[in-house]
Amino acid sequence: MSDTKKVRTRFAPSPTGYMHIGNLRTALYAWLLARKDGGDFILRIEDTDQERYVDGAVELIYKTLADTGLTHDEGPDKDAGYGPYIQSERRSIYKEYAEKLVELGGAYYCFCDKDRLDELRAIQTASKVPPKYDGHCSRLSKEEIEEKLKSGVPYVIRQKIPREGTTSFHDEVFGDITVENSTLDDNVLLKADGLPTYNFANVVDDHLMGITHVIRGSEYLSSTPKYNLLYESFGWEIPTYIHCSPVMKDAQKKLSKRDGDASYEDFINKGYLKDAIINYIALLGWSPGSEQEIFTLDELAEQFDVSGISKSPAIFDINKLNWMNGEYIRKMSLEEFCNEAMPYYKEAVSRDIDFMALSQLLHDRTEKFSDIPEAIDFIDALPEYDTELYVNKKMKTTCESSKESLEQILPVLEGLSNWNHDAIHDALFALIEKLEVKNGVILFPLRVALSGKKFTPGGGVEIASLLGKQESIERIKKGIDLLS
Ligand code: GLU
Repeated sequence: MSDTKKVRTRFAPSPTGYMHIGNLRTALYAWLLARKDGGDFILRIEDTDQERYVDGAVELIYKTLADTGLTHDEGPDKDAGYGPYIQSERRSIYKEYAEKLVELGGAYYCFCDKDRLDELRAIQTASKVPPKYDGHCSRLSKEEIEEKLKSGVPYVIRQKIPREGTTSFHDEVFGDITVENSTLDDNVLLKADGLPTYNFANVVDDHLMGITHVIRGSEYLSSTPKYNLLYESFGWEIPTYIHCSPVMKDAQKKLSKRDGDASYEDFINKGYLKDAIINYIALLGWSPGSEQEIFTLDELAEQFDVSGISKSPAIFDINKLNWMNGEYIRKMSLEEFCNEAMPYYKEAVSRDIDFMALSQLLHDRTEKFSDIPEAIDFIDALPEYDTELYVNKKMKTTCESSKESLEQILPVLEGLSNWNHDAIHDALFALIEKLEVKNGVILFPLRVALSGKKFTPGGGVEIASLLGKQESIERIKKGIDLLS
């Protein structure tokens, strides 16, 4: 391939209704590679497996790319002359090329019916040999083939793999790989319904769409020698291959749909920010070769380099994503944070409180928005709590001391005519000074009485000011009762 050729990468999802994190990462790498070199990023919908088709799946693909900023230069909605970009609309193209391949000697018609194939498989399984087509129809004479075609016998078109020799290819991540042709199967390229298999469509489309770099999951690595044989039969230039290792939950398990933590939407629904997700998955299997961890898309596009892609499977580290999401949250303005958090506030709080003040408490300590409802569930109603909560070694509080403190606090707060943060703060600190006690002796029991929780965003002063005077006084009285 000449160095001056414009980079063209593609994202070729199957419309399954689910954007797996691994697929999104592939899309991201393809987008970055194109952006880095001023190339084109193409969206192609691979819907030839009609059984897997899900309504709304294509819309989800568009939406995810648009939301994450991985905008495509070409695709079903932006034809730049390489369309159609939806495989089911390219039937006639596949047929034409499959027939051409037969002429070129790289494929053949196969008329074997299901019974014969089942029997073949059963025999092979019984004799413990890997199931593989036996090449029966590759030995039919020209006349036999014509006869069957004429009489309308259903057929598929299979790839004709050389029986001997080896096939080699180069992958940018995995290096040079050579396989014995005898291990490769004469796979179906064109099915009886006229639709291609992935094995055929990817080669035809990548060639016709001028794709220079094929970035996809490493599950396609073992089939790539077959794709090379196809490119060679057609006399087409072979693209640069970049295969990416899977994203794993841990050392053994892949991230899976079943566990509900494998798709982009799963993470969005859990309250992660799209920019944080993209930043995190960029580093999931790619290293910039520096210590930098927080990247904008533009910075990624600048620094992305295929040489930084790792061969080893990437382990999804949720703690790291949480940390990164927190970093992105911190970069938001308070207003942005409040807006983004509002649905989560509303989930837990029906009272009319100062949400900006609440945001001030949460902005610094929130890792993901879905943690918010639980953190603030005490605002609407004081939860049942155990008086043990008042016992705290560090604060030097006991149930007795806490009761005393609450009894001291009560008249001070009852006497306040202005109920706001500063007034509450000043009154309580005056009390602390008067009693000559540590802050915690007063503020800790107050926080427990107001929240009924061990951990809260903000301390007693902030919570009292959020709850309002009447509610705060009631909760303090309740605390005294409980401790009596
Ligand atoms: N349609 C394939 C998939 O979703 C894409 C593989 C490729 O990128 O070539 O797995």
